[in-house]
Amino acid sequence: MATIELEKLVKRYGKVEAVKGIDLSIADGEFVVFVGPSGCGKSTTLRMIAGLEEISDGTLKIGDAVVNQREPKQRNIAMVFQNYAIYPHMTVRQNIDFGLYTSKLSKAEKDKRIEEAGKILGLEALLDRRPAALSGGQRQRVAIGRAMVRDPAAFLFDEPLSNLDAQLRSQMRIEIKRLHQRLKTTTVYVTHDQIEAMTMADRIVVMKDGNILQVGTPSELYESPVDVFTARFIGSPSMNLVRGRRNGSGVDMASAGDILIGVRPHDLIAHAKTVDSDGFRLTGTVTAVEPLGPETLVHLDIAGASVIATARDKSIPAVGSEFTCEAAPGSLYLFDASTE
Ligand code: ADP
Repeated sequence: MATIELEKLVKRYGKVEAVKGIDLSIADGEFVVFVGPSGCGKSTTLRMIAGLEEISDGTLKIGDAVVNQREPKQRNIAMVFQNYAIYPHMTVRQNIDFGLYTSKLSKAEKDKRIEEAGKILGLEALLDRRPAALSGGQRQRVAIGRAMVRDPAAFLFDEPLSNLDAQLRSQMRIEIKRLHQRLKTTTVYVTHDQIEAMTMADRIVVMKDGNILQVGTPSELYESPVDVFTARFIGSPSMNLVRGRRNGSGVDMASAGDILIGVRPHDLIAHAKTVDSDGFRLTGTVTAVEPLGPETLVHLDIAGASVIATARDKSIPAVGSEFTCEAAPGSLYLFDASTE
């Protein structure tokens, strides 16, 4: 197990700065998720930690050691990729054993580790099968097993679930998280999927254009996004953002306004006459409805702006009808519109 420290870490590809001097301290045993849109520098950062990309500037420490110049295999970390390289001609056991091919451990110790990994990952009964006889999730577990047997100081995951279908993805999220709770190995996980970030991370690192925008626990990022980008990125469905202006102590929607009013779909609820009269109220035309069981997401067109609200009673509004919704003043976020 180990801490990982990034100090002013820079990656340049020619004139392009893909990572622009980022600072981050990852605690021993922490599960940190890098999240952000494609091209923001997440994988490059992970690959610098792994030793697969040269560091252009700055310092990378694993434990107490500066490892900028160390080869990947001298860093004692294990990486799990999106395209898990499972060899079809080898059994599960041989595939996991491949993680130890440079290791000087005895055959008995290797076998013990493979059996242990097999047990933890629920692959015990499959160790002598070939990958063709495995499901997508089981193959992913083999890739994790290969990383695990090395008993690394840290696990690095690069979009490990992108190739799986939605159901398997949510199952593997839980499995990886449970595995982390059991092994408590420092983990750095890269994804563009904010749901993975929210559900798995101890701390989330939001990246954009090679910079870190915000670092915090999932609830810190959800409750207190520092800017419009994070506000929009974290939470599902995304926070509504409409142009507005201040009006006394309140705010109004106004297309030429100088602020962005943010309100999460969950806080923008069907208007009931009993609701706080100071609330932020919007009326629009229903363009679509998504009944989710206990609640319905109501998509609205409000003077050309798209907004999602929530109806919590049983009646599902008709498409084309008029719908009024309201948010309590305390649930609003205000951003300077020029920062968008
Ligand atoms: P992410 O993982 O967030 O999708 P990457 O770290 O892969 O982003 O890429 C960050 C930026 O660096 C992108 O603009 C990408 O085009 C650029 N980049 C990545 N790898 C290379 C490379 N080998 N050569 C040149 N540019 C690269």
